[in-house]
Amino acid sequence: MTFLTSVVINGDAVLSALEGVCYIADPDGKVVGIGDSNWTRFAESAECSAELDVRRVVGRSLFDYIAGDDVRALYQSHMASILAVPAESVSFHFRCDGPFVRREMRMNMSAIQNGEDVVGVLFQSLTLDERDRPPISLFDYEAKLREYFDSPAPIVTLCSYCHAVKSDTAENRWVPAESYYAAGGSEKVRISHGICPACYKKNAR
Ligand SMILES: [Zn+2]
Repeated sequence: MTFLTSVVINGDAVLSALEGVCYIADPDGKVVGIGDSNWTRFAESAECSAELDVRRVVGRSLFDYIAGDDVRALYQSHMASILAVPAESVSFHFRCDGPFVRREMRMNMSAIQNGEDVVGVLFQSLTLDERDRPPISLFDYEAKLREYFDSPAPIVTLCSYCHAVKSDTAENRWVPAESYYAAGGSEKVRISHGICPACYKKNAR
């Protein structure tokens, strides 16, 4: 049994006891353990992603679940910097809105070490603030996913960190979703994920 396997097996209860939604990936990004109860509760309440079933996620690469090439590249660079300098954890804010709720989150990524070696990375995401707001259908991911396959609707890009929206409607500038609608933005769109320049500057090292 590897050290990481024993951490995960013995740590399953620990992962569930930690605040927020926690999971552990090995250095290649494969998800090896999840704090089941918080994860499931969040997945049921959040409408944040359709793919959050624990049984489907463990054993898969974390990067398969990160939408958008730029966003995935940033997570990969966070992983690389933790593997290189394990004493420095990475922390950033992001939004995880549902259609009816605005949700501010914080992600902490930190090294799990066996002596000098980094054997895994702990991901801990905390809900900092959650409040109801008027519905924004752009954040109804399952509906958008259906539209993605159904229709030739125009594509808008959503910043995975702050949920700013980039579209032809606002001349390809990044604006809050509310401004997108104010400018006459359509509901009938397909969503792709990316990262706006402000969030890139804040998060890239
Ligand atoms: Zn952003």
